[in-house]
Amino acid sequence: MSAKTIGIIGGGQLGRMLAMAAARLNFRTVILEPQADSPAAQVANHQITAAYDDPAALAELASLCNVVTYEFENVPVGAAETLAASVPVYPPPKALEAAQDRLVEKRFINDCGIPTAKFHSVDSQEDLEAALKDFGGQGVLKTRRLGYDGKGQRVFRSPADSAEGAFAALGGVPLVLESFVAFEREVSIIAARATDGTIVAFDPAENIHRNGILHTSTIPASISDATAKAARQAADAILTSLGYVGVIGIEFFVLADGSLIANEMAPRVHNSGHWTEAAYVVSQFEQHIRAVGGLPLGDAGRHSDCVMQNLIGDDILTVPDWLRRKDALVHLYGKTESRPGRKMGHVTVLTAKT
Ligand code: AMP
Repeated sequence: MSAKTIGIIGGGQLGRMLAMAAARLNFRTVILEPQADSPAAQVANHQITAAYDDPAALAELASLCNVVTYEFENVPVGAAETLAASVPVYPPPKALEAAQDRLVEKRFINDCGIPTAKFHSVDSQEDLEAALKDFGGQGVLKTRRLGYDGKGQRVFRSPADSAEGAFAALGGVPLVLESFVAFEREVSIIAARATDGTIVAFDPAENIHRNGILHTSTIPASISDATAKAARQAADAILTSLGYVGVIGIEFFVLADGSLIANEMAPRVHNSGHWTEAAYVVSQFEQHIRAVGGLPLGDAGRHSDCVMQNLIGDDILTVPDWLRRKDALVHLYGKTESRPGRKMGHVTVLTAKT
C-alpha cells in the first residue's frame, strides 16, 4: 500500500487521535492549525501553522494531501469549499453547513424524518418573549452558532423565570429557543459511511454531562433494542441524505416511552465515541481514516462493555491511579497546561460483555 497523505483541519485531541490511527494504516498526516505544537501536530508528520481560512495555507494543504478531513465542525465552509475545488474533502462541506447553525441543523434533521425539540428562531427580545409564551414559559435558549459544551445557553424552567435582557445577555446574536425536553437519558450514536455507501454504526452510548461537559459514556446504554435500532436508522438517514463519507456523532434525548429526539449532530469523530478504541477492534478514529482513505470499514462488533470517563482539568492528577489498574485504557492529549473545564485525556474501563 502506497503512503497517501491525509490533511486534517484542526489540531486538537480529535485530530491527534485521527493522526495516530492514520499512521497505523501507512497514511501520512498534515495538520492545519494556528496554534503551534498542537496536540495533533505532536503525532503527525507536518503542521501548517496558519489560520483555517488562510488562502496560502489552504493552497499548501491541498498541494500536500490526497484527501482533506477535519476534526471540528466550525471549519469555515468557504475554506472547505476552496479545498474541495482541488482535493476531495470528506465529510462533504455541506455537512459543515448543516451542523454549524442550530436552526439549519434542526430543519435538516426534521427533513430526514427525525424528530427534534420544537424550536423558534429568535432574533430579538420580542421574538424571545413570543417564543417563550408559545412554550408555556419553558425552553432552552441557545446561540445558533459556535456554542459548545453548554456554552451560549440559558435554560427557562418555568414562567416565573424572567426573560428580561436575555437576548442581549447572550450577545445579541441570532438564537434559537428549543422546547424543554423532559428526557429520561441521553444517548449518542457514532456511525461511518464509506465512499461506496456502506454504513457501519457502533453501539449507542449513554452519556452523562456535568457542567455542560461530557463526563461519562456507558456502553451498553440502558435502552431497548427498538430504541437502539431507531438511533441507527436516524444515522442512516442523515448519512445517506448528505452523501457523507467519514464518521458522524449524533446525540439524542430518550423519552420515557423509548422514543428519540435528536439534539445535535457533529460531522466528525465524537467524544462519546472515544471508548471504541478499547471495546472494538476498529475504533471510531480508524473507521474515519478508513472511510476518508477509501478503505473498507471495520465491522467486528463490540467485544466488551465499558465506561469512558473524561479527564477534565485537575482530573489529570488521577492518572497514576488509573495506570495501576489492569482494566483501564488511559489516553492523554499532550496538553501541557491544565485549566478548569479543559479536556486533558480520557480513560476507558472495560468489563466483560453482558
Ligand atoms: P447541547 O449544547 O445542545 O448539547 O446541550 C447541552 C446539554 O443541555 C444537553 O446535553 C442536555 O443535557 C441539555 N439540553 C439541551 N437542550 C435541551 C432541551 N431542549 N431540553 C432539555 N435539556 C436540554
